[in-house]
Amino acid sequence: MERIFNFAAGPSMLPLEVLEEAQRDLISYKGCGMSVMEMSHRSKQYQAIFDETEATLRRIMNISDDYAVMFLQGGASLQFSMIPMNLMPKGGTANYCETGVFAKKAAAEAKKWGNVVTITSGKDNNYSSIPHLTDDLVTDDASYVHITQNNTIFGTTYHYTPDIKKCPLVADMSSVILGEEFDVNKYGLIYAGAQKNMAPAGMTLVIVKKDLLGNAPADIPSMLDYKLMADNGSMYNTPPCWTIYMAGLVYKWVEKIGGVKALEKRNKEKSALLYDAIDSSKLFTAAAAPESRSYMNVTFTLPTDELTAEFLDFVKDRNMTNLKGHRAVGGMRASIYNAMPIEGVQALVNAIKEFEAKK
Ligand SMILES: *Cc1c(COP(=O)(O)O)cnc(C)c1O
Repeated sequence: MERIFNFAAGPSMLPLEVLEEAQRDLISYKGCGMSVMEMSHRSKQYQAIFDETEATLRRIMNISDDYAVMFLQGGASLQFSMIPMNLMPKGGTANYCETGVFAKKAAAEAKKWGNVVTITSGKDNNYSSIPHLTDDLVTDDASYVHITQNNTIFGTTYHYTPDIKKCPLVADMSSVILGEEFDVNKYGLIYAGAQKNMAPAGMTLVIVKKDLLGNAPADIPSMLDYKLMADNGSMYNTPPCWTIYMAGLVYKWVEKIGGVKALEKRNKEKSALLYDAIDSSKLFTAAAAPESRSYMNVTFTLPTDELTAEFLDFVKDRNMTNLKGHRAVGGMRASIYNAMPIEGVQALVNAIKEFEAKK
């Protein structure tokens, strides 16, 4: 059966090899007579899958023992609430950088718990670029600074790790995790929903410096307490077993093809191919400012809604799907995560050129 190039922002493409491996083991995992979906999370067999998943992630991201790794539920969106509840006292202050839709959602949840000081905002240019973030912007009373490392909807990214000294740096890496190399030691907490670059939906990865744990008030819901989750190895209750297993397969795939370093190189090549085609076109325009352009989500527009609709139809006949942009930006968005092969990007580039040529 032929697969199509799926440019969805998430859930999104998974590596074919990973899907094939899961398929081989679907009915009877390594010959044990049951599927991973049917296993007790308390079984030795499942614990081995879980431990290997965490160990592989620690290797590919170079995560030290100073950090706890958790596989939780509730999506990246639940982290918008868990972060303030665990990292700042109730009524305390945190700093947020307003760089897009998810950044605003994160800040809105934090406001329910304490004071949010917005220290940078890209609002004036409709979030097409990322304001530079430096330590002197951070307020002295901040418990942490929150950034959205890659803005999935606007297609913008920080091409650096802000050097924050006053307090821990917290980053939503949902759409860039494993797509670029990051020095985990520069962050207090990193979180990411699985469904963009790691696995099917259903799991959220949280990597947190251990010395930040244990400060949450005792009256918050148990399920929202990082310390409890970390102390129980993400198994205070039933974890998202299948998604964790799939993430483990993806982590091993990453390792096999040369690690995050190799993927970063590939992602730069893939996105450059696409941005070059857009920049050299007279019809298509890139939505993000050059200095903030994402390697993962490429946003671009056409002059009219009619042309946009026509182009989206045009690509449909060419084995490509889910290129419609988010309503906040309009136009098109090509999410080209790790699992999108270069052939998919090349197909899109060809479509852009052919579409323009016939206009
Ligand atoms: C998709 C996304 C979210 C929301 O993730 P859910 O898992 O649906 O809650 C949050 N932040 C960013 C940057 C995203 O790309």
